[in-house]
Amino acid sequence: LGAGQLGRMLALAGYPLGLKFRFVDPTAGSPAGQVAPQTVADYSDTGALGELEACDVVTFEFENVPDYAADRLAATTQVFPPPAALRVSQDRLVEKTCLTSLGFATPRFEPVHDEASLRQAVDRLGVPSVLKTRRFGYDGKGQCVLKQASDLPRALALVGAGPCILEEFVAFEREVSLIAVRARDGSVASYPLIENRHEGGILRRSTVPSMTGPVVEREAAASVQRLLEHLDYVGVLTVEFFEVGGQLLANEFAPRVHNSGHLTIEAAGTSQFENHLRAIAGLPLGSTHCPGPAAMLNLIGTLPDKTAVLRVPGTHYHDYGKEVRPGRKVGHITITADTHAELETRVAEVSALL
Ligand code: ADP
Repeated sequence: LGAGQLGRMLALAGYPLGLKFRFVDPTAGSPAGQVAPQTVADYSDTGALGELEACDVVTFEFENVPDYAADRLAATTQVFPPPAALRVSQDRLVEKTCLTSLGFATPRFEPVHDEASLRQAVDRLGVPSVLKTRRFGYDGKGQCVLKQASDLPRALALVGAGPCILEEFVAFEREVSLIAVRARDGSVASYPLIENRHEGGILRRSTVPSMTGPVVEREAAASVQRLLEHLDYVGVLTVEFFEVGGQLLANEFAPRVHNSGHLTIEAAGTSQFENHLRAIAGLPLGSTHCPGPAAMLNLIGTLPDKTAVLRVPGTHYHDYGKEVRPGRKVGHITITADTHAELETRVAEVSALL
């Protein structure tokens, strides 16, 4: 379900394993629809869902699939990850409550549903704080930072659109993500922590390894394993963290392959895409080891000159086949190197072309 670039990269990783794909997505000519058959239909279209029942296994590349569609499919077909995981991740309040109950540290948060509860939450958490819609936010959409009284009308407009959550604003040192995979037999593997830089709510750069220390990294991997086991999860799951004062605060999780994991295609023994497919198809997991440093730069709104980019050693160019539009993720470049210094030199050369 979902035929965006994540679906496309899943299909491309699955063909060598002899897997076949069918995608459902409301937008014709989607990135995955260019490499596999696509049914152009809404996620709640019963005819389209019926077609998927012929598949051995159904999965998602998009977490806002209506849960009743996932439940309907799960009644007749194997659906991984489990629809229950989708439900938890679709609501920021349920998600943060689940994470804290499993021992993850998170930014402090308060539910908000009207002006009175907003004022109460601001009293408790102070400013700056971040107001987010509980559902359907992505790439920083559906959120606003509260700093002063003049931000209140904007915040109230957000609350008017549906239930929200107010979070303390975290002055983090860095953002990192942990991508892990759980197989049908319960075995778990995790990739090294990946360091992420966002601008305007959109991921710009991911780098491996992160600057986070090994003890904190091991603790994060153990927490994510607990989450996978709690959800009886099968497939790839990603937890995003803020790192502050040597501690990781969990921001959210995505029940799917993740933008920050694109670099695993070239940097890891087995990519997140192949490992997701191995997990849901009941195959043994592959190595998540990343032997050398690597960085991924998202291409947003425009594609650079391919020839110039590929002249820089260690570059790998990914074009999603999308129409170029401002603010849209249309591709990415992964850069590998033998040393950190070499990586940064190459990243600077590529960045100058963007
Ligand atoms: P989305 O689901 O839309 O990606 P996120 O919750 O991941 O939303 O927020 C997008 C980005 O906004 C984060 O990666 C981070 O840079 C910033 N952000 C979100 N919440 C906070 C917070 N509580 N404190 C500081 N920055 C935040």
